[in-house]
Amino acid sequence: MNPTTPALARTDAPLEKTALEVYVAPDRPSLIGLSRAELMACLGELGVPEKQRKMRAQQLWHWMYVRGAQTFADMTNVSKDMRTQLEARFTVDRPEVVAEQISNDGTRKWLLRLPGDGVGRAHEVECVYIPETDRGTLCVSSQVGCTLNCSFCHTGTQRLVRNLTAGEIVGQVMVARDRLNDWVDRETPNGNRLVTNVVMMGMGEPLYNFDAVRDALNIVMDNEGIALSRRRITLSTSGVVPNIGRMGEETGVMLAISLHAVRDELRNELVPLNKKYPLAQLLDACRNYPGASNSRRITFEYVMLKGVNDSLDDAKLLVKLLKGIPAKINLIPFNPWPGSKYECSDWEQIEKFSEYVFNAGYSSPVRTPRGRDILAACGQLKSETEKLSVRERDALRAMAMTD
Ligand code: SAH
Ligand code: SF4
Repeated sequence: MNPTTPALARTDAPLEKTALEVYVAPDRPSLIGLSRAELMACLGELGVPEKQRKMRAQQLWHWMYVRGAQTFADMTNVSKDMRTQLEARFTVDRPEVVAEQISNDGTRKWLLRLPGDGVGRAHEVECVYIPETDRGTLCVSSQVGCTLNCSFCHTGTQRLVRNLTAGEIVGQVMVARDRLNDWVDRETPNGNRLVTNVVMMGMGEPLYNFDAVRDALNIVMDNEGIALSRRRITLSTSGVVPNIGRMGEETGVMLAISLHAVRDELRNELVPLNKKYPLAQLLDACRNYPGASNSRRITFEYVMLKGVNDSLDDAKLLVKLLKGIPAKINLIPFNPWPGSKYECSDWEQIEKFSEYVFNAGYSSPVRTPRGRDILAACGQLKSETEKLSVRERDALRAMAMTD
């Protein structure tokens, strides 16, 4: 078994990275998350003649991403011999569902187990499905834990952090469709899809896992597969400024910014990444976000913390700051978690804030907390896996290397 480290950036411009855990890939890797070219290379390893590889890769693509096949045996128009060979070397596994919780409002949360460090410690993430009347939104994780420590967020308190692979990110969409019976053959009265939107708002900072997130989103948007439109995908970032524009260029998805404060001093406290990329730089990156327009507005998320960031002065400054940016504002009532030090703003204050922003010309819906009873709401996601001390981490890494 080889310890696997995250893929390196593919272009010359430097991308910002954070230090991460090592994990050990399974002996038989999953084909989920590979590009067509990578699939063709896998077929080459099996001895498929070059001329056939493109067609065979396309066949696999269709079975995986249109039909949702969970085994090679399901792929009935692939020759038996080929299926046996594929089976011997690869899988089409998604992350393993280890727990499913269903809220009384219909929200579902899955705890997913991923390959761990090879010495007995599995890695876990959560993924949440939120059904609404006109859509079904899947909240997808990009990292186990998060290296950033926003003071109001539960995920930020998790110590163990690793990047998900593209396959593990696409795999969350596939797990949701498996569990909801949402593949093409499903029998429903109107045949409508259940997972219609994806938000990269689960665990982790997606722009600190740039390559895998970009590759995964491009697979989810691929017209010959899951085929979600880029307008139905939103990536939320706490503000990794150097990576914002590039994500826009390389995926075209909608952007959301976790703003939460309108003065640097307060934002430094709530979102410590602000010390590195202060508000002026962040808003500049938004002004330059590719494709932002009045019909493709940037969402500014603003968590309502009682007595901290919820005054009318804050609302006024917010409007001033966003001037000239095609923006909408999403007010998020703070979701408490065990041990959190903030309180959610009073409802009247949220309404006053929202009204001010609305009167200034911004759409400012208040995000209804969903799945609170199963700790599935924004910022509450935190897997069982705990963070390790540096010494523990080094010891585990050394063991994984010699395995
Ligand atoms: N790391 C990314 C994406 C995941 S968080 C980011 O920060 O943007 C999704 C949203 O939930 C973010 O806006 C985040 O700031 C917010 N959030 C975190 N903790 C929260 C809490 N306890 N209550 C409400 N919103 C929270
Ligand atoms: Fe990480 Fe986002 Fe939570 Fe901040 S809010 S700790 S960036 S997941």
